[in-house]
Amino acid sequence: MHNHYLVMKFGGTSVGSAQRMHALVDLINDNRPKIVVLSAMSGTTNSLVEISEALYSKNTDKAKQLINALEEKYHQVIKELYKTEEGLRKGKELIENHFSYIRSFTLDLFTANEEKAVLAQGELISTALFHFYLSEINMPSVLLPALDFMRINEHDEPDLNYIENRLAKILKENQNHTLFITQGYICRNAFGEIDNLKRGGSDYTATLIGAALKSPEIQIWTDIDGMHNNDPRVVDKTYPIEELSFEEAAELAYFGAKILHPTCVLPAQKRKVPVRLLNTMQPNAKGTVISEKGSGRNVTAVAAKDGITAINIQSGRMLLAYGFLRSVFEVFERYKTPIDMITTSEVAVSLTIDNTQNLEAITNELKNFGSVKIDYHQTIICIVGNFTADKQGYAFKIFDALKNIPIRMISYGGSEHNVSVLVDSKFKKDALIALNNGVFNHQ
Ligand code: ADP
Ligand code: ASP
Ligand code: MG
Repeated sequence: MHNHYLVMKFGGTSVGSAQRMHALVDLINDNRPKIVVLSAMSGTTNSLVEISEALYSKNTDKAKQLINALEEKYHQVIKELYKTEEGLRKGKELIENHFSYIRSFTLDLFTANEEKAVLAQGELISTALFHFYLSEINMPSVLLPALDFMRINEHDEPDLNYIENRLAKILKENQNHTLFITQGYICRNAFGEIDNLKRGGSDYTATLIGAALKSPEIQIWTDIDGMHNNDPRVVDKTYPIEELSFEEAAELAYFGAKILHPTCVLPAQKRKVPVRLLNTMQPNAKGTVISEKGSGRNVTAVAAKDGITAINIQSGRMLLAYGFLRSVFEVFERYKTPIDMITTSEVAVSLTIDNTQNLEAITNELKNFGSVKIDYHQTIICIVGNFTADKQGYAFKIFDALKNIPIRMISYGGSEHNVSVLVDSKFKKDALIALNNGVFNHQ
């Protein structure tokens, strides 16, 4: 069994410069067997997305400019990263290879598959650069290609059995090694093509590896000291939460706490592997541990998910009828569009979606049931905590805090861990600040 491998994932800022890569060595430099998962250097995946957009729109000159600028950044990085001729030579060759590959896409038709190949370059480059650096300082490591073991199935879901079997085999072949470096984010799909786990997916890679290997712990190293009680990008005076349950963490991640990829908690929860969130800039800070134990708090944290569309269907036919909701849900099912929030009354139902790809077709079908109203630019504010039915006063506290914010929808009681409200995105900031002042200061 391989249950002794620790998983350590370092995000974009943690590998964002030569200095940061040098600093990682102190964090991984013990003899504990470990798999180190790296993201692309910060900014790279965004640049690759921009390059892809330029290629899609056949703006070849712009694509070439962006490619040149990104390559230039890497030539600067290697000058600071390596001290030896050998390191510099290997780094330069690596960068030239990857960038001539990216440049090859300026020559012919650009499709979704090619885009995925382009997006994969960031993690391929960062891991190879770091691996060369470790060899420059005589620290033995093995570079494990994620494309050899990370796979999603035909429904775009990770194939945990495959990942587990492949990893076990690869690690067995490398029994005499203790330090492995691999790419986050990238994988192969059911057709064997290069694919990815969506933006922020390196966290998911780490938890999938940790679950597959039944690791003692999955560490997510980032640029903040753990999961905060509110979005630190929007609200001042947020604070880290030391302990979270898997359920609480999953809700926060799904509803917009960017520190974790939306679904990355699930594999760890499934195999009961604790996830620890840590700060590379402050390695001794406690951070957050996510486990079965939980926070023990009543109101734990708040997160917000933007880009939500609310759909309201009003119909006299709903009155005292059964089967109505099923017909409504079937429309969303047919268009493979997940529903996030739902509220109903006797004659109307409101629900929210974030994938609007098929909105027009969905709306047309819903019109068969009654009148349909759509509100765009909405935000779900998700309040996570422990709201068992025997506890009193928390709904009051939450809504008292939000008393000056216009609220479009409320969902309470669906889960013991979540109260959600829907507001127009222009009220998001005020709502998050109001909750910070009203709910967290008086716990
Ligand atoms: P990485 O590149 O390491 O994956 P991310 O940028 O994806 O890092 O995630 C870390 C960022 O998440 C933090 O810098 C912070 O701005 C943001 N963030 C959003 N909500 C939260 C929260 N509730 N707690 C902590 N960080 C949060
Ligand atoms: N590099 C990818 C991104 O920027 C994956 C990640 O960093 O988690 O989305
Ligand atoms: Mg991230």
